[in-house]
Amino acid sequence: MTERSRPRFAGLAPIRMGTPAVNGDGQVPQASKEEDGPPSTHSKVIIVGSGPAGLTAAIYAARANLEPIVIAGYVPGGQLMITTDVENYPGFPDGIQGPELIDLFRHQAERFGSRIVDADIDRVDLSERPFLLWAAGTEYTADSVIVATGASALWLDLENETRLRGRGVSACATCDGFFFRGKEVVVVGGGDTAIEEATFLTRFATKVTVIHRRDHLRASKIMARRAFEHPKIEFIWNSEVIDVLGDEVVEGVRLRDTETGAVRDFRTNGLFLAIGYRPNTEAFRDWLEVDANGYLVVRDETHSRIDGVFIAGDVHDHRYRQAVTAAGDGCRAAIDAERWLESQGIAEAATATAW
Ligand code: NAP
Repeated sequence: MTERSRPRFAGLAPIRMGTPAVNGDGQVPQASKEEDGPPSTHSKVIIVGSGPAGLTAAIYAARANLEPIVIAGYVPGGQLMITTDVENYPGFPDGIQGPELIDLFRHQAERFGSRIVDADIDRVDLSERPFLLWAAGTEYTADSVIVATGASALWLDLENETRLRGRGVSACATCDGFFFRGKEVVVVGGGDTAIEEATFLTRFATKVTVIHRRDHLRASKIMARRAFEHPKIEFIWNSEVIDVLGDEVVEGVRLRDTETGAVRDFRTNGLFLAIGYRPNTEAFRDWLEVDANGYLVVRDETHSRIDGVFIAGDVHDHRYRQAVTAAGDGCRAAIDAERWLESQGIAEAATATAW
């Protein structure tokens, strides 16, 4: 990438005045029409990721007339796309399917003028502004970037595990634990997440069995002790799940003893994977600070170590990991980005108080 192909930083895009929700004609901002010419590959803000964090950032940025481009990313829609019933997102008292919720976010973002590009981000160059991003062979330039690439739960990658996802197989106790009231479940893993998930699941399940591939936990001592003392939690040591049993729903798991190799079946109604998460940082790892667990590091709320690059959602948050917290984070990142763009003379921040 040569310097020649970078648009100059400030002043190219006209500053838009007025309120965020309507244009001068009283209409809400709309996505630019195809007949106006090829869509621009430059934006004041490019959002990478299209889960709750990215799409909420898009809604806010679009309503602030920043005409964001959303590079929808690795798995468009993020983890909600593999979640069935979402019953804890406010505003949906009867629950909503994860993909349907994402669809609503997406429509809302597009309604106000976000342009969503369904492509993976290949790489970025954040060495100078405007920032450069490449996706599906197209080069994009951005005055600011919001990284909302999320994190992916790790799975065992068993055929029947994939087939029964949402029908007894889950990687989120907070999301799905409620459906296991009065049932027996297993949790795979030996870290803090496994113990936290197991403890949470005791609110619903009659018995929670933690299956761990070694003979001692990786989890912190205090959490482990609570689990050992919990009357509903049992442990199966030195065992790995090698298959998931059941036609329509989970009916059991096949276990292999990691020491003897002996195989046996264990009956259960639910399989919760808690073998860790992988934050989706591939494109950004060389540019942004990453913590010991691989998550991006935020400074001063949503800022990164690079001026003009903001971070939102699960790609930095390994604590809450909820759709609603990610959405809130996306809102905060968009507000921070707009205020930063205003400080650089690129956007009019009159909107910042009228979101
Ligand atoms: P983790 O610490 O990496 O633990 C993953 C667990 O899954 C390990 O016990 C590992 O076994 C097991 N595992 C990994 N791959 C497996 C496979 N293919 N088959 C079977 N088992 C497998 O991940 P985490 O528990 O998600 O925690 C991540 C970080 O977040 C940690 O730093 C943790 O302390 C932190 N965290 C903190 C809290 C809290 O403080 N409340 C809550 C959750 C997470 P081995 O032990 O044999 O490697």
